[in-house]
Amino acid sequence: MHVGTNNTALIIVDVQPTFTEGGELAVEGGNAVAERIHGFTERNRSRYALIATTQDWHVEPGEHWSDHPDFVDTWPVHGAAGTPNARLHPAVESLGVPHHIKKGQYSAAYSGFEGVEDNGEAIPTRDDVAEAAARLTRCSPAQASRASTLWVSRCRTVCATPRSMRRRAAMMCACTPT
Ligand SMILES: [Zn+2]
Repeated sequence: MHVGTNNTALIIVDVQPTFTEGGELAVEGGNAVAERIHGFTERNRSRYALIATTQDWHVEPGEHWSDHPDFVDTWPVHGAAGTPNARLHPAVESLGVPHHIKKGQYSAAYSGFEGVEDNGEAIPTRDDVAEAAARLTRCSPAQASRASTLWVSRCRTVCATPRSMRRRAAMMCACTPT
């Protein structure tokens, strides 16, 4: 993805049906927040050099999924790659954002900065994810100096991206696919 000259990215974090009403890890009010995110993004998209979404896109995330979740380190099945609830929330999907970061395919991943850009709907293999991650490590230094995030809840999963962004604003780098 390429970051333009104003260097501000908008990152829409984990706004998926799995985390809104009716989902496996629903946050009350999530659907309303998704609608507000839609409105904000429509009104402000010209202010951002880059807009990206993040998603849980779990294939086999190990102990991240549990039949007996503790809701700290283990969770019910959620964000299962290829299922309707793992897609973007319809209010966000309709924005037509071009860049999608998917995370947690084969391990727990709380931050979008642990993910890779994947703009398709396919279920990736472990090799697919490893190759995409390897491309990221060859990226040039970050050009996104600031970022705004919009998200649904305050739970650990969804706050991890803003937290890690403060540490590593770099990862949403201007990476020319190789
Ligand atoms: Zn997850």
